[in-house]
Amino acid sequence: MRPALRRLMLLAAHTDAQAALADGLWTTRCLHCRRTLRLRADGEPIGATSLEHVIPRAWFGRRAAAALTARVGDVPDDARNLALACARCNQDKGKGPDARGPSDARAFAVVATLLEARLARWRPPPACDRGDAALSGRDG
Ligand SMILES: [Zn+2]
Repeated sequence: MRPALRRLMLLAAHTDAQAALADGLWTTRCLHCRRTLRLRADGEPIGATSLEHVIPRAWFGRRAAAALTARVGDVPDDARNLALACARCNQDKGKGPDARGPSDARAFAVVATLLEARLARWRPPPACDRGDAALSGRDG
């Protein structure tokens, strides 16, 4: 698996309040069906574990999705938009709501609900992962 993708999988795990690291393995639950998923400590997925973009990448920049994308900083790979999911759940979402697009009210509602579930599981990444000057105590 590509290093960039492994890094995003790890970012999803680090910022998932339901993910735990033990004996070199991350364990969490699928954002959709809550099945147990595992990820190696280096970000390599085990079994059916896959990276879910909660708001599909193709929805970014589309006016109908603006209310959703603004919640993740309008960046598809923002940690708030990443989650671990079963490959099967991920594919079903891709063929269903993702493909119907943000102008479809039902598809929009499904993605909005998933985003709420993702944000409810949010925890801030460790300070060393941030690399963000805005978080270093700068005043103002
Ligand atoms: Zn699942």
